[in-house]
Amino acid sequence: MFNKKTVDIAILGAGPAGLTAAHTLADKGMDFVLLDKEDKSHLNHQTIALHPETLELLDAINVVIPVLSQSTHLNRACLYDSHQKQRAVIDYSELTVKFPFIAVIDQDKLETILIDALKEKGYKPKWHHRARCIEQSDTNVAFTVDRLTEGMTGYAVAHMEMEIDKIFDYKANYVIAADGNHSLAREAAGIDYPEITRDLHYAVFELTTETSLPMEMRMIIEGDHTHAYWPMGPRRCRFSFQMNSESSDQDRGGSSPDLENTHLMALLKAHAPWFKAPIHDVTSRKLVHYQTHLADCFGNNRIWLAGDSAHMTPPTGMLSVNIGMHEAADLANRLSTAPNDDVRQFRLHAYNADRTGEWRRLLDIDHHIVGDDSTAKWLLRHRNNIIGNLPASGESLSAILKQLHLTDAA
Ligand SMILES: Cc1cc2nc3c(=O)[nH]c(=O)nc-3n(C[C@H](O)[C@H](O)[C@H](O)COP(=O)(O)OP(=O)(O)OC[C@H]3O[C@@H](n4cnc5c(N)ncnc54)[C@H](O)[C@@H]3O)c2cc1C
Repeated sequence: MFNKKTVDIAILGAGPAGLTAAHTLADKGMDFVLLDKEDKSHLNHQTIALHPETLELLDAINVVIPVLSQSTHLNRACLYDSHQKQRAVIDYSELTVKFPFIAVIDQDKLETILIDALKEKGYKPKWHHRARCIEQSDTNVAFTVDRLTEGMTGYAVAHMEMEIDKIFDYKANYVIAADGNHSLAREAAGIDYPEITRDLHYAVFELTTETSLPMEMRMIIEGDHTHAYWPMGPRRCRFSFQMNSESSDQDRGGSSPDLENTHLMALLKAHAPWFKAPIHDVTSRKLVHYQTHLADCFGNNRIWLAGDSAHMTPPTGMLSVNIGMHEAADLANRLSTAPNDDVRQFRLHAYNADRTGEWRRLLDIDHHIVGDDSTAKWLLRHRNNIIGNLPASGESLSAILKQLHLTDAA
């Protein structure tokens, strides 16, 4: 029943981060395996917005064309106050980048594109392969992988459950831990994942409408709450309304009074009175509970983190998924181009320093963001709503801060 496998690099998790790492390693002809405990049918159905730099990354791994054709492109994001006054405008078309817009796409579509393109490069994720018992030494990472299959179980009522069909003993020189926020690899590396802000609760609705919608992202700032509107096509959009924690339960389905049509209409009237389009259908409604975490470090020895295994941040700016894909590509590049293990170790330690520094900047942990003039006063007063929620990263973030009369003085 036991099978021994050795590989240079094992990627744990085939979400956006793991798939991006796999593309980068495939392009360099590296020896790697991509394992995921779920299968493709368990894809994520949330909407994400890809930042300009992420589109460049997808271009570099040759998948940008299908992403562009299946996404909605927005070149403006507007910030509103509680009186529905427009306080600031972000104009992506002014950025000097190859793709001067954000691309809104369902996460499962993005993952399908990445999986299909990986197949064309000759690689396939190993679905239903669950890693556990991860242990690292100075020379390698050893772990067990359960291959899972669906089995019929239950006496009174028969139902399908996953059961172990085969067990493998793996050894890898390095592990890219892209196994999400409950990462076992992070735990094996002994890395803390502290909470950085209080929990956030949202009521999220996806709608189709009878008439055309405003084609710009809107962020509505009211006290310590940040609501967001994302057009997902000319007649399809998503609202996420931030709720008081006591009024919403974690990740509940369609049963809460907060998700009923009467509450949706009240939320729209209170926070988005400009939304006049007659609603054709509410295609999805859910309560989502976000915790925000940032790992103490991005890896050690032979286990290195990318994506949600290292961070979870507020949803409006979509930072976690965008930055996670960059981290994955960066990590894979550092592992691919090093001529020997000493150089790999040196580059990986630099990865930790670079990535930790980047998140300190993205979340403005050291309070380096200052106003250029009095125009920025309102934004600075609401810095807790804005920092970490702006849909931008990399060089574009600096340019966008400039548009908002803000500077990162670090
Ligand atoms: C309900 C919900 C709503 C969200 N809404 C938004 C949003 O609106 N905007 C946004 O930007 N982000 C949103 N997110 C977050 C976004 O989905 C994540 O940032 C993104 O999926 C992170 O990608 P990742 O590749 O790092 O991790 P994941 O997508 O979590 O992928 C991790 C993978 O690892 C696999 N795995 C875990 N453990 C093991 C193991 N032991 N062995 C093998 N495989 C393993 C999992 O099956 C999974 O496929 C939301 C998340 C949730 C849960």
